[in-house]
Amino acid sequence: MSRNLITLEHNNQRDTSNIDHLLQDHTRLGRLAKRYSGGAHINSRVHERVRDDLLALRDFCEDRHRRIFNLRQRTNNFITLLYNLITGHDSTVNLRIATQSASIAREARKDSEARNRADAAGFYRFALPQVYGGQSHPDTNLWMSAIRYHLTSHPVYGGGLGLANDLQNEHSIVGNFPDVLMLHHFGNEDQRKTLIPARLQGTFRTTFGLTEPDHGSDATYMSTTARQTRGGFEITGAKKWQTGAHHCTHFLIFARTSGQPGSAQGITAFLVPRDTAGLRIASYEWTLNMPTDHATVVLNQVWVPESAVLGSVDQGLAIAQTFVHENRIRQAASSCGAARYCLDRSIERARSRKIWGEGKTLADNQAIQFPVVELMTQVEMLRLFIFKTGWEMDRVVAECQASGKRPWVEIERRLSDQVAMCNFWANRLCCQAADRAIQIHGGDGYSRHYPFEHIYRHFRRYRITEGAEEIQMRKIGAYIFGFAGPKKDTAAQQSKAKI
Ligand SMILES: Cc1cc2nc3c(=O)[nH]c(=O)nc-3n(C[C@H](O)[C@H](O)[C@H](O)COP(=O)(O)OP(=O)(O)OC[C@H]3O[C@@H](n4cnc5c(N)ncnc54)[C@H](O)[C@@H]3O)c2cc1C
Repeated sequence: MSRNLITLEHNNQRDTSNIDHLLQDHTRLGRLAKRYSGGAHINSRVHERVRDDLLALRDFCEDRHRRIFNLRQRTNNFITLLYNLITGHDSTVNLRIATQSASIAREARKDSEARNRADAAGFYRFALPQVYGGQSHPDTNLWMSAIRYHLTSHPVYGGGLGLANDLQNEHSIVGNFPDVLMLHHFGNEDQRKTLIPARLQGTFRTTFGLTEPDHGSDATYMSTTARQTRGGFEITGAKKWQTGAHHCTHFLIFARTSGQPGSAQGITAFLVPRDTAGLRIASYEWTLNMPTDHATVVLNQVWVPESAVLGSVDQGLAIAQTFVHENRIRQAASSCGAARYCLDRSIERARSRKIWGEGKTLADNQAIQFPVVELMTQVEMLRLFIFKTGWEMDRVVAECQASGKRPWVEIERRLSDQVAMCNFWANRLCCQAADRAIQIHGGDGYSRHYPFEHIYRHFRRYRITEGAEEIQMRKIGAYIFGFAGPKKDTAAQQSKAKI
């Protein structure tokens, strides 16, 4: 718009200068007419009328110039406003627009045709227990892995960016419900009865408040505290990267209620309603991928009643751990599927792109084939590893149902390293496959007319957010070297025996 206004202004300047030339010509013509009329009568009124018209045109141009100037200023102001909004430089603007987008998002959710249709068709709640309209399927983890892989790899669904499975806003026609399962396992009767149906209807939505401005991977060192007071708790601190803050009804806030920094004990989870006094959204972070829904939330002596506690006081971190492995394996399957999608599209492109003369295609070159071969080999191996791990998780769940043990604790103990292997490698692989697809598609690959740069931007996030890559590798290292996990006791005995 700015550029077009500048063009308009240049054109106006050109018109003004043409009129000035015409006025000069007009004066010259008047002098000539006087000189050659030999004193004969000439109709000076015609001459004057022409001059008046030219002057009126000039006024018009000046007026136009003023208007264009004002318009340019207003446009510049608007662009600055937009820039501040995008970069978060001006938090007032940021918040104002975020509030607007929240209501837009609310409307969009209400009208979420995809979700409603999926629910009506019986897909949406597949992974939930029967009591909430789900299947309680004995192979839920295996099925969810297969479904996620299918929805991201299939050309109809577009590599995890399609309407059926838009991972960007974590929507899928086959829903993933960590919050429902947390409420199911840890909520009291009242919370279960009211919040779970509300969640499934979209009238209760919560964020997940573990990360802070100064603590992410080391979340157990959190600075947010809650102290018991006046029949409830007073929470003070800050949480960063609160996904879904723009349309949440509640913030799930983890705060230290006792114990030492670094201890997993002494952390409590609170469901804090959005409008609670003392809670404020300080900013929305602008990310590689999204005009953002990830907020920083400041809590200044926020009072909540005891009924806001989810689970037991001091045992809140267990809530965060309930669903970690289910989430990671599903996400691994999505990333692996999206990698497959990128490679399939690259193969199609390389086969069809005519290049270097008659009858030759890009695919004829082994320098094009080999990187795809390497990535495809990894996709195929990883896909099977993900399905196998999902299947093993289901076996642990079945055992726990029979023995009364808590499945997430057993999955953590027995399979955490394998789930982490699937997850960190799939996320990395997807980024590599998207990057390769960009390369094989050349300039088109880099353009936003093709999905690969978007897939890269989206899946790059998962190398940080689902337990960063290094944190997952740390876990795998600890398990395979026997510092943690099932080998721990044997490894310790072996090293003692050697000493
Ligand atoms: C888009 C997005 C959405 C998010 N959504 C949420 C959300 O809804 N709720 C929430 O609570 N959080 C959320 N997060 C936060 C996310 O969980 C954290 O960013 C993540 O845990 C990493 O923490 P950090 O950013 O503080 O990085 P840090 O912990 O500072 O780590 C920085 C880097 O150092 C590495 N590192 C750390 N320790 C070690 C070590 N011992 N050895 C080797 N390397 C190490 C990490 O792997 C990482 O690469 C989100 C983040 C993003 C970007």
